Amino acid sequence: MKTVIIGAGAMGSLFGGLLTLSGEDVWLVDIRKENINAMKLKGLTIEEKGKTLNVPVNAVTDIASIGTADLVIYFVKTYQTERAASDSLVLQREDTIFLTLQNGLGNEEVLSRKVDQKKVILGVTGQGATLLEPGHIRHAGWGETQIGELDGKMTKRANQIAQMFQKAGLPTHVSSKIQDLIWQKLFANVGINALTALTGLKNGQLLDYPETVRLMEALVSEAVEVAQQKGIRVEGNPIKKVKHTAEATRENRSSMGQDFDHKRRTEIDAINGAVVKVAQRLGMSTPYNQIITDLVKVIEKKF
Ligand code: NAD
Repeated sequence: MKTVIIGAGAMGSLFGGLLTLSGEDVWLVDIRKENINAMKLKGLTIEEKGKTLNVPVNAVTDIASIGTADLVIYFVKTYQTERAASDSLVLQREDTIFLTLQNGLGNEEVLSRKVDQKKVILGVTGQGATLLEPGHIRHAGWGETQIGELDGKMTKRANQIAQMFQKAGLPTHVSSKIQDLIWQKLFANVGINALTALTGLKNGQLLDYPETVRLMEALVSEAVEVAQQKGIRVEGNPIKKVKHTAEATRENRSSMGQDFDHKRRTEIDAINGAVVKVAQRLGMSTPYNQIITDLVKVIEKKF
């Protein structure tokens, strides 16, 4: 499959690099010239488990120079999806697949406005990566990747993508309940990200203060109620799972925490903000998520 990855930051480079190493025909696209120039000059450097890999990759800023693609994967921040989706239309053929593995809610809707919904596949990934400098990343997390069709059907094309990821060392399953899994990952982001950003704490430290534990529980409870009202199947005890995630990543600073540290825009609109938006559509109120979203947005505006 000729695969084009839109966004050659931390995650795009990880998937792009590992897929290239496994022999796939992959193209990395980024609007940041320094990312692409570094990769053109020295290849992509991936640090993982004490090893350093150097991968010669196809990297371009001019998306129109690639031709058409079998598969387009989005790894831009959620607030960049709209533009990335428009830019990627030049890659489209009748059977091109558009896959988002980004965090949060709303990417499906943005993509479905740009291309035929039948061409869109959704996913979530437990892989993690950090951009150290242009063209140089650290592979920082090894969870599973799940992908699935919007209608839940187990299709040949979804299996083909899963096999391709699998071969590149990215454990992947096709799920008939991808929406449930997207919400499951959202619960962790809802309960951890904004709180670490606002307090300056590391993920695990949120569990060390009764105040942040209370806030985490309230944020996640609201999100779970919204999910259930929306018809999402919520399994197990989400609050317990979020706490487990915070403990398992105790020493990490969440992505939103890092965004705050660097005075960068965050993905709040696709996380706590998205819970508020979905709740409003359902006639529900989510005061904790509303307050947290407002606080993050005011601080962002001052950056
Ligand atoms: P990043 O900021 O490192 O990379 C995004 C890249 O996209 C940037 O280099 C940016 O220049 C580029 N970009 C923006 N608009 C573009 C466009 N129109 N065309 C081409 N390139 C464009 O972000 P990231 O950490 O790789 O995260 C990407 C997504 O994956 C986010 O939704 C994030 O929440 C999700 N995610 C991240 C991790 C992680 O560990 N970093 C893990 C799971 C999911």
